[in-house]
Amino acid sequence: MSDIKIDKLIRSRRKTIGLHITSDAKLIVRAPVFASTAFIQDLIRRKKSWIRAKQDFYKQRPRTTRKFAAGEEFLFLGEPYPLTVAEDLPKAVVFDGALKISNLVLSNARDHLECWYKTLALEHITARVMYFAQNAGLTYKSIRVNSASTRWGSCGYNDSLNFSWRLIMAPPSVVDYVVIHELAHLKQKNHSRRFWAEVSLMMPDYRKEEAWLKENHHLLLWP
Ligand SMILES: [Zn+2]
Repeated sequence: MSDIKIDKLIRSRRKTIGLHITSDAKLIVRAPVFASTAFIQDLIRRKKSWIRAKQDFYKQRPRTTRKFAAGEEFLFLGEPYPLTVAEDLPKAVVFDGALKISNLVLSNARDHLECWYKTLALEHITARVMYFAQNAGLTYKSIRVNSASTRWGSCGYNDSLNFSWRLIMAPPSVVDYVVIHELAHLKQKNHSRRFWAEVSLMMPDYRKEEAWLKENHHLLLWP
């Protein structure tokens, strides 16, 4: 027996076994319906060092559990800003190159920071949507910001665009990728080859940004 725990086994009509390590270091195994447990265990044993290395990598990352205390770092457009608690602020949250929160709202810091993020997310994303839409000659109905934690963006059938405010924590090029992805859906409401061709036209090396999101999505969540 291998001493590596399978956190989730998904059987389907695939032909090969796939191993995937999630950003919280869990092992997901995708296997054909009829693959025997012994066969799966054998593969895991052979891939043990790869699995361990990946799991260690994710485990050693700083935990993103939020205390909303002074000095804790918050991402804005990919840059970390340590939180400063200040007195006599004109607003609950002030950002002037440094991220400051009023001592009066500290017990409710999460809500106030979320509100601040949402406002800036809508502002930044709207500007980027307008920029890329104009360049590509695309029209959309509306832009909204929501709190989604797995879908960073979506495009409705009525051409309304939705983005998660959490996206504003990612680097600018990653935000641009999600904006471009949703704009491409205005032309193609699917993930066909034509769709990816539309994305490539606006952002030739989009795969780099896509990979960043896959690898770092945990940075955009506050457990
Ligand atoms: Zn899509």
